[in-house]
Amino acid sequence: MAVYNFSAGPALLPEAVLQQAQAEMCDYQGSGLSVMSISHRSELFLDILRRAENDLRELLDVPSHYRILFLQGGASAQFVQIVLNLAGGFRCINAVVSGYWSAQAYRQMRRFGGIPVDVAADGIADYGGRTVPPPENWRIHPKAAFVHYTANETVNGLQYPLLPQPAADSPPFVCDMSSELLSRPINVADFGLIYAGAQKNIGPAGLTVVIIREDLVGRCGDGVPDVWSYRAHLDRQGMYNTPPTYAVYLAGLVLQWLKRQGGIAWARQAAEEKAALLYAAIDGSGGFYRNRIAPQARSLMNVVFDTGDAERDAAFVRSAQRRGLHFLAGHRAVGGLRASLYNAMPCDGVYALIDFMDEFKRRYGR
Ligand SMILES: *Cc1c(COP(=O)(O)O)cnc(C)c1O
Repeated sequence: MAVYNFSAGPALLPEAVLQQAQAEMCDYQGSGLSVMSISHRSELFLDILRRAENDLRELLDVPSHYRILFLQGGASAQFVQIVLNLAGGFRCINAVVSGYWSAQAYRQMRRFGGIPVDVAADGIADYGGRTVPPPENWRIHPKAAFVHYTANETVNGLQYPLLPQPAADSPPFVCDMSSELLSRPINVADFGLIYAGAQKNIGPAGLTVVIIREDLVGRCGDGVPDVWSYRAHLDRQGMYNTPPTYAVYLAGLVLQWLKRQGGIAWARQAAEEKAALLYAAIDGSGGFYRNRIAPQARSLMNVVFDTGDAERDAAFVRSAQRRGLHFLAGHRAVGGLRASLYNAMPCDGVYALIDFMDEFKRRYGR
C-alpha cells in the first residue's frame, strides 16, 4: 500500500533525498565519516553549508546584497529575534494579523519588544479570517521599524495570492514564509527579512532559514546577545555557535533535488495543479466537504476543509490513516481537516486522497 504523508510539519521529505541520506549516512562521499559527527568548522561541512547557501540563492534568485543564515530556534524564535535585531530605537512595529501564526508573532513581539506593536491590518476582525487583509488597506506607520506579515497561514489555509509590494518609502517588510518558501517565485528585494522554519517545505525540523538585507544586519548595534544576533552569526562564516549541521545537510539535499525537478517554476506549477485538484474535489462534493476561505486567498500549500461534524471529521482521519493517508487532522486550534501539499507531495498522493474522499462520502454521505 502506498503511504502518503499530509502533515503540515514536520512534513514529508522527497523519497530520493531520504534514500541519498541513507546511502551516505555512515560514509559521506568516501570520507569514511558521517555528516552527523564532523566538525562544523571542517572543510567537509563548510562545503555542505556553502553549497546549500548557493543553491538557495540560485533557486530564489537572492540578490548579492542579501545574506543567508541557517539558524536554530524555529520560526517562533524569529518572532523575537527580529525585534531584538531590527527594532531598537524605532517608534513602533507594524504587524499584519491574518491568522494563527501572524497572531502568535504579534503577541510575542508585543510582549518582548519593549515598543508599541501596532496592528496594520486585522483579517480576523475585519474579514472573519476568510481572506487576507488587502495590502492597500494596511495602515503602515512611516517610522515603524518594520512591517511583519505571514505569507501563508499554515493553520487557517489562507495565503496571499500576490505578495504585497512595499512602497518606495515603506519600512522594510519582514515575512514569515515558513510554510511556503520555495513553492513560488518571490522578489527577495521586496523584503527586509524573510524567515522560515525548515520543517515545512525545506528540510527537517531544527533549522531556520533567514534571508536578510545587508544594511539591516547590524541595525541595533551591539545591544543584542551574540547568540541572537544576526551580525554575530554572519561575522563568523554564518555560524556563531554550532549550527544544526545534519539538518543543513538534509536541507541541502532537498535544494539539489528541487533544482533537478526544475526549480521554483516547477514547484509553482505543481502546487497549482495539486491544489486545484483538491479544491475541485471539495467544491464538487455537493457540500459534503467544505472550505470557508475566499477562493482567491485559498492556500496552495495547506488545504483546510471539514465535513461540518467534528465526529465525522475524526472518523475521516482514522479511516484515512488505515488507507495509508496520514496526518489529515486540522491544527488543534481550529479542528477539522487539513491536507498539506508541499513540494515533496506527489500528484499521486492527491489522487489517492480524492479517491478516499469520494469513498468516505459514499459511506457517510447524506
Ligand atoms: C510552523 C510555523 C511556525 C512555527 O514554527 P516553529 O519552527 O515550530 O517555531 C511559524 N509560522 C508559520 C507560518 C508556520 O507554518
